[in-house]
Amino acid sequence: MADDDLYARYQHAYTAWRAHHANCQPCRAGTHCPVGTPIHQRLTDLQDSYLRRIRSRGGKR
Ligand SMILES: [Zn+2]
Repeated sequence: MADDDLYARYQHAYTAWRAHHANCQPCRAGTHCPVGTPIHQRLTDLQDSYLRRIRSRGGKR
């Protein structure tokens, strides 16, 4: 899998989460609703993979 693909999926998940977050009262209050939970989970998973990949490379400049 290409790095750019992982980054694109991470950005997409982030955009999806922000779009949901902006219109969801429980999620804004920090209590993830049933719809928001998988969206947020996907974001944290991708963020984790992305950051781990950067670290395993010894940092990116
Ligand atoms: Zn929500």
